[in-house]
Amino acid sequence: MPDIAEFGEQATAWLTTVAAPRTDSVWGDGPDTVAVFENWTAEEEQAHTDEIAAYEQAKFDAGWGALNSPVEYGGRDLPLSYVLAFRRVEDTFDVPKRTEMFSVTQQLVAPTIAQWGTEEQRTRFVRAMLRADVIACQLFSETEAGSDLAAVRTRATQAEDGSWTIDGHKVWTSGARVAHYGVALCRTDSTVAKHAGLTMFLIPMDAPGVDVRPIRQMTGGSSFNEVYLDGV
Ligand SMILES: Cc1cc2nc3c(=O)[nH]c(=O)nc-3n(C[C@H](O)[C@H](O)[C@H](O)COP(=O)(O)OP(=O)(O)OC[C@H]3O[C@@H](n4cnc5c(N)ncnc54)[C@H](O)[C@@H]3O)c2cc1C
Repeated sequence: MPDIAEFGEQATAWLTTVAAPRTDSVWGDGPDTVAVFENWTAEEEQAHTDEIAAYEQAKFDAGWGALNSPVEYGGRDLPLSYVLAFRRVEDTFDVPKRTEMFSVTQQLVAPTIAQWGTEEQRTRFVRAMLRADVIACQLFSETEAGSDLAAVRTRATQAEDGSWTIDGHKVWTSGARVAHYGVALCRTDSTVAKHAGLTMFLIPMDAPGVDVRPIRQMTGGSSFNEVYLDGV
């Protein structure tokens, strides 16, 4: 395991090659937003997502992304203390400000697939999500299923040939406009208790039948969306 002080110095050396130190900023110049959910147009949201993804990809390729992920997925299998050490250094540089879609993709969805996905899913998605090549959103909440998530009514039905068809309506989906895949909680068996009979699906957000409708916030932006799934 690398010495943590040396690790910090190496991180600083790499960050110096890709970003300016924050101390170069002049107080009062540039954006001062601390918003988690921005008031972006669809084009702005996509442009910011692309900019952050490019930085995340460079970071991953240089060995500074996915620090505590398994080596098989391009990580370094280091303890969380190294992730925090890197972040402390990274915070002193003017790198693109990550949106919640990157923590959703890299810290929630990728580890979930690594833990519970099939081998094919792990091979196909985990590294790609950690590198931010693939962005994922979470299709969980519905109008009648929030805290009581087991009440989801979106249905997935299996045909005789083994294929699945999904019908339903999700709401409050953060970042659905920029996501490549959605992780959807669906009811696959309505004859059992409601906390059973549920299955997670990975849905390509450009599949026919997926309709993303932005929800306009009081502040003007549309960070959240409704997602209609019609014969997907
Ligand atoms: C910033 C943000 C981002 C989000 N992004 C996503 C996303 O990407 N994907 C997604 O699927 N969802 C997303 N959501 C939705 C979120 O998961 C739901 O808002 C959450 O599950 C709560 O559901 P609800 O809003 O329907 O509230 P409800 O479940 O209707 O709860 C309303 C109130 O009732 C209380 N309450 C509920 N049940 C009980 C009970 N049994 N006893 C006592 N009190 C109770 C709750 O504590 C709460 O105060 C997001 C929400 C927020 C705020």
